[in-house]
Amino acid sequence: MSSEFALIERYFKRPARRATLGVGDDCALVGLSAGHELAISTDMLVAGTHFLPDVNPRTLGHKVLAVNLSDLAAMGAIPRYASLAAALPEADEAWIAEFAAGFFALADAHGVELIGGDTTRGPMNFCVTIFGETPMGMAVRRDGTCAGDDIWVSGTLGGAALGLAWLRGAADWLTPAQGRAAQALLETPTPRVPLGVALRGLASAMLDLSDGIGGDLAHIANASGLTARLEVDALPVFAALKSRPPRERRRFALAGGDDYELCFTAPKPKRDAVFAAGHAQGLSVVRVGEMLPRRHPSVAVLQVDSSGETIPEPFSGYQHF
Ligand code: ADP
Ligand code: MG
Repeated sequence: MSSEFALIERYFKRPARRATLGVGDDCALVGLSAGHELAISTDMLVAGTHFLPDVNPRTLGHKVLAVNLSDLAAMGAIPRYASLAAALPEADEAWIAEFAAGFFALADAHGVELIGGDTTRGPMNFCVTIFGETPMGMAVRRDGTCAGDDIWVSGTLGGAALGLAWLRGAADWLTPAQGRAAQALLETPTPRVPLGVALRGLASAMLDLSDGIGGDLAHIANASGLTARLEVDALPVFAALKSRPPRERRRFALAGGDDYELCFTAPKPKRDAVFAAGHAQGLSVVRVGEMLPRRHPSVAVLQVDSSGETIPEPFSGYQHF
């Protein structure tokens, strides 16, 4: 058996690089680049709610950081530091070593330093707080969009939710290769950090898609006091979903969740620049709608089909309560 201090020392402590002081004291100490402001976000993953208890620990270490990096991406912020609070039912060192390997592989890829945290016994739960920076006043918020702006989505949607369905045996129409590809999107999402940074100065509002665009887009619409007209059949969907019946395809794309793609708005004259930003990252960006003045107070998102007809039973995103 190891004490919590031995576990931290062995698996989570690394020499500070950019930070003034990292793991090991009562607080970490960090500075900020001149002319920048801090972007801070916290996301928690709970066993049974966000992952299956028998999940591969390496992919879980990746995902708990990835979902936080995705929030920085959505602000156009550059990731710098993270802290990690972990509750573990037991000190299974092989499991912790794998978790740490997944966490640090992604952290290193983004130049993120783990600067602190907390380790306790309890029902399995991981909570990361991430710290990034943006040039003063340049963060892309949810409230900056104007009527007439285009709505855009990066990558494809619905794959992660399909991966969950596959794991539950509820998508047996997939080939094993398609099932594994969908599972990989669920377990090891790629946070769109470089794209988010490239969209600074182009996007008028942005968020990352964690609960499904059907619900998440309402946050931009509400923050900006507008209505989002979303062309649901223009949504870029995971390849294996393209041949599915419209209602099933739309459900995965709109309400699936866990996609961690970026959804953003931009003025129409910026179209070419938006395409170029996606192209430079090797990522597709697709125009999926337009922001409109709000005519009906309660309509944040208007879902229309390819002929412009309003969809009678629109899908909203995943909700915990
Ligand atoms: P304190 O009792 O002063 O709050 P702790 O005993 O909880 O400190 O933690 C000791 C040090 O280890 C602190 O610097 C803390 O930030 C760090 N730490 C604890 N758990 C983790 C973890 N899971 N990952 C990274 N750092 C951790
Ligand atoms: Mg202390």
